[in-house]
Amino acid sequence: MSNKLKGIIASNGVAIAKLFLFNKEELVIDKSNISDQDKDLHIKKVEDAISSYFNDLDYKEKNEQNEEVLNIVRAHKELLQDPYFVDTIKEKIQNENKNAELATNETVEQMVMVMSALEDEYLKERADDYKDIGFQVLCKIKNVVPKDLSKLDEECIIISKELTPSDTSNMDKEKVLGFATDLGGKTSHVSIIAQNLDIPALVGMQDVSSNIKGEELAIIDGNQGILIVDPSEKEIEDYKNLIEKEKEEKQRLEKVKNLEAKTLDGKVCEVSANIGNIEDLKVAIEHGCDGVGLFRTEFLYMENDHFPTEEEQYEVYKEATQMLGEKPLVVRTLDIGGDKGLDYYDFPKEENPFLGYRAIRFCLDHQDIFKDQLRALLRASAYGNLKIMLPFVISTDEIKQTRIILEELKKDLDKEGIAYNKDIDLGIMVETSASIIMADKLIKYSDFFSIGTNDLTQYTLACDRGNENISDIYNNFNPAVIRSIKHVIDESHKAGKWTGMCGQFASDTKATKLLLGLGLDEFSGSASKLPKVKDIILNSNFKEEEKFALTILDLEDVKDVEESIEKHN
Ligand code: PEP
Ligand code: MG
Repeated sequence: MSNKLKGIIASNGVAIAKLFLFNKEELVIDKSNISDQDKDLHIKKVEDAISSYFNDLDYKEKNEQNEEVLNIVRAHKELLQDPYFVDTIKEKIQNENKNAELATNETVEQMVMVMSALEDEYLKERADDYKDIGFQVLCKIKNVVPKDLSKLDEECIIISKELTPSDTSNMDKEKVLGFATDLGGKTSHVSIIAQNLDIPALVGMQDVSSNIKGEELAIIDGNQGILIVDPSEKEIEDYKNLIEKEKEEKQRLEKVKNLEAKTLDGKVCEVSANIGNIEDLKVAIEHGCDGVGLFRTEFLYMENDHFPTEEEQYEVYKEATQMLGEKPLVVRTLDIGGDKGLDYYDFPKEENPFLGYRAIRFCLDHQDIFKDQLRALLRASAYGNLKIMLPFVISTDEIKQTRIILEELKKDLDKEGIAYNKDIDLGIMVETSASIIMADKLIKYSDFFSIGTNDLTQYTLACDRGNENISDIYNNFNPAVIRSIKHVIDESHKAGKWTGMCGQFASDTKATKLLLGLGLDEFSGSASKLPKVKDIILNSNFKEEEKFALTILDLEDVKDVEESIEKHN
């Protein structure tokens, strides 16, 4: 009898192969203290270990092709160079007489604890990176060669307690057909890598690694969230057919991805990508993006040890603009604060940071920082189709103030003879209740809207987007959210302007037809989802979807909306 085990879907797809059980070594940390004479020796041990791991990463960077793996390698190099990391370890040796292993382990644990406590998914991932580099550095200190997945004899599905970024970056990608891990969440590195490699993955499987011997034949179903161990003949047959169909679907989408997203009756939409850096943009272009609907610039600030200068930012924005040619690049100005902090700036302690000193509020209060970014954006706008977007707007005043600053900066650039796009668009994110209600007024001062459903749903439903206890309430299909979206789109259209969406909802393929029918002009989301969103638009009739959307707007609760959409799709 086959054994079906459930997991959280981290990456879609289906594969059949033998299971490969990957158990990492447990490192036992020496807890003894050292004498004063030995301090230098232990500091040297740490320095050698860090530099040896840095050299390994350097070698990997030169020989790796996969963009997502390169992202990991570069992120690890950066973290290894973080003076806070190295200095904290050294201080523990110097001031507390801790040995090299103990000092490293304690430092890593502290950093992981701080990062894991944050709600921001991106920063949570950084905790995994610290755990990972900690493990690699400790292996170097202890002279242990860690097991890896770089040489596999045959195609397999990896089963493990967890997979660290370096496990996935080292693995033999030709042979790995899927992963299933005890730990990990939807947004962990392993999920991102699996999506990038386009292989199925399940995470949060609790104790799968203890219940598997390895070598069993299995089916991993990343669409249903199940791992079928020792499948029956019938199950194998059915899944082989499904795999064949998925292959055909992928080949079909490959042809669709670069087409214009035009409905059967001629409405043209844009299908764009959300990015956080240049590497993401490369992946987005490979997936046929029509532009970038959201460049989250806060990562540029968070990955630095100082507020990035105008020049540093200009280089990045210019490169991204040039990579896109005529296609639009919508750059969101600094969305910092809330739970997104900066190592080099002390944000005030707040009772409700999500409702606090953040995003446009922070920028208008720190005009020197804001001006550096806006000037960099203006200068980069000379190279293509760059648009500026303000986050977390609640009033026309915030846009007016920004426009005044922009005008001053433009005058300066004129005086200096520096080129920029004089008609650069300034739009806003609609992600607060105030911005929905005031949409008719806000659009007077905005060239476009982009709906940030991640926050809009949170504020409309008074429901924390990261709180698992109320995750069943947090639902983009809630009629209050759907009506808000409709209202915002209508107000922009009345003013002859366009509305996009850059929250996750825009790349939820269950919602594509509905959003099309509500009149959305631009869908911006995860690169891997873009071809499917485009395909749905290409095969839809806008007028029909418009009628369907009207029936949805009349429904009373979320269940009705979901049922009706499921039937319709
Ligand atoms: C949003 O709120 O929908 C959004 C895109 O912004 P972020 O997820 O970065 O808050
Ligand atoms: Mg937001």
